[in-house]
Amino acid sequence: MNYHQYYPLDVLNGPGTRATLFVSGCEHQCRGCYNQSTWDVRSGHLFDEAMLNRIIDDLNDTRVRRRGLSLSGGDPLLPANLAGISELVARVRSQCPGKDIWLWTGYRLDALSEAQLAVVSRVDVIVDGPFEQGLADRRLKFRGSSNQRIFCRSGDAFVPWCDQD
Ligand code: SF4
Repeated sequence: MNYHQYYPLDVLNGPGTRATLFVSGCEHQCRGCYNQSTWDVRSGHLFDEAMLNRIIDDLNDTRVRRRGLSLSGGDPLLPANLAGISELVARVRSQCPGKDIWLWTGYRLDALSEAQLAVVSRVDVIVDGPFEQGLADRRLKFRGSSNQRIFCRSGDAFVPWCDQD
């Protein structure tokens, strides 16, 4: 897996202070996408063990407390990214207790493959669907167009996210 950007401190992509990873690779080709440079799965930098360890260390940094990790792109659920994202999510789950994970994807939740669902089942919040330029609305929180939806995990199911932040 490759990534484009890593923000060790971020207050825009999700609630609270967070660490955010933008991975490489997206097949949705949404009109008006502001991240076209991430579409090529070979672009960016290799997401290696050192980068994974850095994210774990940042999330556990007690000097600057992060609420959690945001995964965006590109698309973290692009099939080519699933192995890398799965490993990252597993490490955060086991080594960063109390941290939440938000994930943005251009796929719709109801159309995910088994492999994609296996990853999603271990994140806390998913923002789904492609960006639709005709439905763009700058007033929306954490999403670019009104067709996109925010779900939070409740046991084995996902339910519409209730904004309590
Ligand atoms: S899903 Fe996101 S990154 Fe991919 S084309 Fe659409 S807006 Fe761009």
